[in-house]
Amino acid sequence: MRKTLLQIAFLAMVAAAAFGQDDGKLRIIAIGAHPDDCDIKFGGTAAKFAKLGHHVKFLSVTNGDAGHQDIGGGPLAIRRYKETQESARRLGIDEYEVLPNHDGELMPTLEIRKQIIRRIRQWNADIVIAPRPNDYHPDHRYTGVLVQDAAYMVIVPNIAPETPPLKKNPVFLYYQDGFEKPAPFRPDVAVSIDDVWDTKVNALDAQDSQFYEWLPWTSGQLDEVPKDKAARKEWLSKFRGGRISPDVRSALEKYYGKDKAASVQHAEAFEVCEYGKQPSPEELKKLFPFF
Ligand SMILES: [Zn+2]
Repeated sequence: MRKTLLQIAFLAMVAAAAFGQDDGKLRIIAIGAHPDDCDIKFGGTAAKFAKLGHHVKFLSVTNGDAGHQDIGGGPLAIRRYKETQESARRLGIDEYEVLPNHDGELMPTLEIRKQIIRRIRQWNADIVIAPRPNDYHPDHRYTGVLVQDAAYMVIVPNIAPETPPLKKNPVFLYYQDGFEKPAPFRPDVAVSIDDVWDTKVNALDAQDSQFYEWLPWTSGQLDEVPKDKAARKEWLSKFRGGRISPDVRSALEKYYGKDKAASVQHAEAFEVCEYGKQPSPEELKKLFPFF
């Protein structure tokens, strides 16, 4: 059947919307194992991208249906999903997708690698951020492996052929972590998130099953969580505040200058992955347009 020009234009519009039309804004996909990982590691920087009109998607590779001391399975997955949507709303990002893989049981399979390849392609990503593949939690570790394994395949047309390949390889980055083996984290980019710290804490506050129940339970601090809503948010801000490592402080100096870097209270840092596009220092600055 021959299509009218109007039908063709409409189909082109639908395709452009589905595969991330180039509107001159950056397209970032942050990938985590659980429905709070992206928020913890990237929430501040995500809020900064969003404020500038860039497109940010969070993707949780598991549905978080295991990590809780009192509930589990479907009811927990549903609760976690609702929390992700509220967190996304508070950060101002475009989308928070949760894949239906079980928490605590993630394996680096071909099927899940393809799920990730498709999501990166559909988002038409310029930047992909994921954990490093060495971590105490197997789900974090395998998320790192899965994303690394997708880093080249996103441009290979015969892999997951029903989703068109990317024309250019995105830049892949890792979130900051404290693991030393086989190599410590290297902060190639460090972003001051002082201006959006309250926004980040407010997003974490949306995930009560994580930050006020499960995580304090795992660290034996459940008794310290205040009952009052305002007081517990303040507690969360202190609990999550942390100290900036000397390495990250030096990376901040590179981007902000010594004086400004010295006063930064909260930062997020990222390491460029050896796979995917290798950006020059100038290109990296364009990808993090905050400096
Ligand atoms: Zn996690």
